[in-house]
Amino acid sequence: MIDSHAHLNDPRFDSILDDVIARAEAAGVEGIINIGYDLPSSRRAVELAETYDWMYAVVGIHPHEADEVTPQTMVELEQLAKAEQVVAIGETGLDYYYDNSPRKIQQQVFHAHLDLAKRLGLPVVIHSREATQDTIEIIKAHPENRFLLHCFSQSLESAKIYLDLGCYISFAGPITFKNAEKLRRVAAAVPLDRLMIETDCPYLAPVPYRGKTNEPAWVKYVAEKLAELHKISIEELVAVTTKNTREFFNLKSKVQ
Ligand SMILES: [Zn+2]
Repeated sequence: MIDSHAHLNDPRFDSILDDVIARAEAAGVEGIINIGYDLPSSRRAVELAETYDWMYAVVGIHPHEADEVTPQTMVELEQLAKAEQVVAIGETGLDYYYDNSPRKIQQQVFHAHLDLAKRLGLPVVIHSREATQDTIEIIKAHPENRFLLHCFSQSLESAKIYLDLGCYISFAGPITFKNAEKLRRVAAAVPLDRLMIETDCPYLAPVPYRGKTNEPAWVKYVAEKLAELHKISIEELVAVTTKNTREFFNLKSKVQ
């Protein structure tokens, strides 16, 4: 299994990292992609990928922090993004649920990330919440980019639009939640060749650990639920999502 969206770069993992990594390995996790959400966390993601050859880094500024972004931030992000361990730009996107940054600024910073990804030939990891229409518009304005919608929580109609635009879609712990029937119907409808699995740890721990600090080992609960929804074995689900993740991020076969 590959956890396609983790935040082991979050400082709350610093003191428990060895145990978290040991549990991930024991659970059969063979790759972890750590996603930056500001400059320090992006640097830390690269550092982790330099330390562990089965980890990879994605660098970017979360829409929550968009109003902190200066031209200098983007210069530093670009330098960081040139590191060999960086496999995508993100997480970037739009969050109109929290509206932590003004929407116009979120949109500008999103565009800037997509331009950077295009220049460097890297795919993009998108965070989108309560902002479907604008997310779709911006994706359409960047047809040369390749996109992954992470921790998908939008409608089936929206999923179909993203799929038509060539996007990949990744699911996290919420598909295991009790009241998530609607989301499970969406997850069942995403074709296997566009699907990925993730934890988004430390957030969104799946059932039976809901409410706890999430970690990559628990990506298996997401895989189990998706296998059940697609009526295939967990082995098949893991094989296809691992293949998708390797292809989308162009992961070098560092893992034997
Ligand atoms: Zn995230």
